[in-house]
Amino acid sequence: MRKKIVAGNWKMNKTADEAQALLSEVINMVKDEVTGDVKVVLCTPSIYLASAQQQVTPGGKVSIGAQNCHEKASGAYTGEISAPMLQSIGIEYVILGHSERRQYFGETNAQLAEKVNITLQNGLIPIFCCGESRDLRENGDYIGFVKDQITESLFHLSAESFGNVVIAYEPIWAIGTGLTASSAQAQDMHFELRQHIAGQYGDTVAQDTTILYGGSANAQNAAELFARPDVDGGLIGGASLKAADFLTVVKAAQ
Ligand code: PEP
Repeated sequence: MRKKIVAGNWKMNKTADEAQALLSEVINMVKDEVTGDVKVVLCTPSIYLASAQQQVTPGGKVSIGAQNCHEKASGAYTGEISAPMLQSIGIEYVILGHSERRQYFGETNAQLAEKVNITLQNGLIPIFCCGESRDLRENGDYIGFVKDQITESLFHLSAESFGNVVIAYEPIWAIGTGLTASSAQAQDMHFELRQHIAGQYGDTVAQDTTILYGGSANAQNAAELFARPDVDGGLIGGASLKAADFLTVVKAAQ
């Protein structure tokens, strides 16, 4: 049985006090109100990771994740954080290849393959983001494009290593725009991606792969999205910044 996950991507939001308030609220609400088998991952800005990690119970329902890491283990890369650093403070998850990183920081599929490698070598779980632009969705082979992102960044892995990867399908036209993919559009893409994975690693690995949907998922639409058979939870941006909204999304995945 594949894992259900709801991950909150806080992006570059919240001051220290605000971050602490949100973290405490989410941790308490999950403890009191979430009974089902869903993993909650809070991807805070890196400056808050160490303190956040100290406030969650190892092996509990809530885990902490980073939003990025460098592809090298250490060295002269001013301003960057590494996978061994994350691992050394107990972080479990790392978002890789978010469309904002691809767009604003020029991350490529080849570079992301290296980031995937270093995270897995350090026992971290990459949440690998993929997704097409609006132009491609309307005028091109958008399914082929997303499959290629996965091929080029992930298919060099052994089946065993691939089994530790979480995929997040995030159509760029839906991120932060209020335009959500319909549940049918999400299901269609997730089904295609699972078939693609089955072609490389076989049916068992494909069926065990968690594929999240991201892109303006919120308290109103999460239940419908998560009801689809190949949608295993969500990567949530804006709606992860308010505890009550985020909790509604988490509960929808139970
Ligand atoms: C994201 O940044 O991963 C995301 C899905 O953002 P939003 O939910 O705000 O569209």
